[in-house]
Amino acid sequence: MKTIGLIGGMSWESTAHYYSIINEAVKERCGGLHSAKCIIYSVDFEEIEHLQSIGAWKQAGEILAMAAGSLEKAGADFLIICTNTMHKVFDEIAQKVQIPILHIADATAGEIKAAHIQKVGLLGTQYTMEQDFYKSRLEQAGINVMAPEENDRKLINQVIYQELCLGKIIPESRKQYQRIIGSLETQGAQGIILGCTEIGLLIQQQHADIPLFDTTMIHALKAVSYALE
Ligand code: GLU
Repeated sequence: MKTIGLIGGMSWESTAHYYSIINEAVKERCGGLHSAKCIIYSVDFEEIEHLQSIGAWKQAGEILAMAAGSLEKAGADFLIICTNTMHKVFDEIAQKVQIPILHIADATAGEIKAAHIQKVGLLGTQYTMEQDFYKSRLEQAGINVMAPEENDRKLINQVIYQELCLGKIIPESRKQYQRIIGSLETQGAQGIILGCTEIGLLIQQQHADIPLFDTTMIHALKAVSYALE
């Protein structure tokens, strides 16, 4: 079994979910008392969020690159970055290490293609929904990506940073997300990417009638498959 290095803490609520999914999957696949070999480097999210908000991506990238280097030195065989948004600085992090990093959008694109879906709606932080770094990666894989309209993007973003990253699961916010998913479906989306690692804490498949692609679940399970290859 390979050792998984997790760059986490963005937020810790979703990193805890990664840890649990990864261990459940190893238990199911290997049986007995097996559990995942992993190392978590968990950052202080207040610092990262501040750098995001002032556009200091390079500095945020340096912090994560340092974390990646530490995980490599500590014996990780490969890495995952447990947030969609911070894949904006993927290249900067990848340059700092010799070991592979499994990209969250690549893992998600693989699942979408396996489901023979061409057009998806994307929910995530405003950075993920509005900037190019994430959508272009999916589009390169041949997937057509739609984002919600501006007011809805704001609402989704606010729920992520003011509720989900603080562990608050509010039913009214779930209703709003369901409304937005419904409207993307009406506009032609065949599936929805939960493109923020906290959204799966609020919305699961039973809350929608089109396929949901939960990036946390997909990424964590991809890491397990790779670790057990
Ligand atoms: N975990 C979130 C994501 O997947 C948002 C937190 C962050 O800004 O990293 O994008």
